[in-house]
Amino acid sequence: MIRELTRKKTFQGCIALTLATVISVFAQPAAPTYDLLLRGGHVLDDKNHIDGVMDVAIKDGKIASVAAHIPSDAALKTIDVKGLYVTPGLVDIHVHVYAGTGERNSYAGDLSVPPDGFTFRVGVTTVVDAGCSGWRNFEDFKDRIIDRSKTRVFAMLNIVGAGMRGGKYEQNTADMDGEATAAMALKYPQTIVGIKTAHFEGPEWTPVEQAVIAGTKANIPVMVDFGADRPTRPLYDLLTQKLRPGDIYTHMYSGLRQEQDPVTLGPSKGFIEGRKRGIYFDVGQGGGSFKWSLAVPMIKAGFIPDSISTDLHVTSMNGAMKDELNVADKIMAVNVPLKEVVAEMTSHPAHEIRHEELGNLSQGAIADVTVLRVEDGKFGFTDMVNRRLDGKQKLICELTIKDGKIVYDLNGISAELWTAPPGPHDAEAYRWTTFAPRPPRASTPATEMPH
Ligand SMILES: [Zn+2]
Repeated sequence: MIRELTRKKTFQGCIALTLATVISVFAQPAAPTYDLLLRGGHVLDDKNHIDGVMDVAIKDGKIASVAAHIPSDAALKTIDVKGLYVTPGLVDIHVHVYAGTGERNSYAGDLSVPPDGFTFRVGVTTVVDAGCSGWRNFEDFKDRIIDRSKTRVFAMLNIVGAGMRGGKYEQNTADMDGEATAAMALKYPQTIVGIKTAHFEGPEWTPVEQAVIAGTKANIPVMVDFGADRPTRPLYDLLTQKLRPGDIYTHMYSGLRQEQDPVTLGPSKGFIEGRKRGIYFDVGQGGGSFKWSLAVPMIKAGFIPDSISTDLHVTSMNGAMKDELNVADKIMAVNVPLKEVVAEMTSHPAHEIRHEELGNLSQGAIADVTVLRVEDGKFGFTDMVNRRLDGKQKLICELTIKDGKIVYDLNGISAELWTAPPGPHDAEAYRWTTFAPRPPRASTPATEMPH
């Protein structure tokens, strides 16, 4: 009896469950799992050893899946990126963006640029300001630029407390305080990713030694622009004794110190020994720090960059440097493969600044993604002495995604034609793009009107 009752109940329960399933299936189709899907692109993800056609799905600002075939109805929005390269968002670890103070002839002022005008349009989602501010003015920089930019801005603190404000400040060894610099770095561990020493002309090791004290206390790397070439502090000693493994030598192809071996024209002994010890070598083209007469023989000798950076500032932005992709084009023009060049702009720099959550497309990683097109043609690439090397390929940024949302779309590949009917997920477009229509308001203040 009891058993029969149970059976009857179970049977009724089954019917109810089946009916409920049928009703729910008809009433509302299953919601797509992902916010955004990039389909059919060639994925280059150095950290995960991916070099092939894959689909990339994003949800809630994170990479949700990278797989061979993800159906388009699994996402609110699907973009066809066939024929294009899909990479992690690019990381440029040498820029100058402490703009807006009004100070003349100063990287904590007029020589810096506002980051958002120079980043997303070339696929860069993260930049590191290389020493514009020191411990005395970092908080002003943070308030003025870092906290207000759409670009992810990190900072390396200048070992000079006053920052990169010109000769009378930058040559002042009394203002190079490793302890005070470390204290500020430890106060903002999410934002301060390194210590910078630059432009020093004196014969002493003071800036390097104080920078290493700060870097050691705060457990972050030191980046060196080695300033004037002085026999009292040779480059060989810097790279084999003074710096620690994991520290970064920028302006690697400048030729202003002893980067190049005078006989072989390849890398100097200091460079070779330094790389063996784990020093990283960074491009940092800037206005006067990249020469073909170094870059070509050194790259041909196998001394390729660990990271490609711009050294973006007011006097490099329209010169030979131009932007991150133009610097990458130059390295490619000396026959470094695209896959390697992308690694030098993604996983490598992210690793150098110890932000492993960036620069890769691992499941759960921050969904910064760049879509690049390789254009074939005849292109010219110039250096600091206005010499040209011709190349046949150029990288163009088609689409940039930061934190899961489209922030740049050169040819509108994420947009529907204006004649198309409304889409089923238009109301949720804010989930995958920053270009979603703004919700209507009863009265929009004039200052917030779109224009
Ligand atoms: Zn610089």
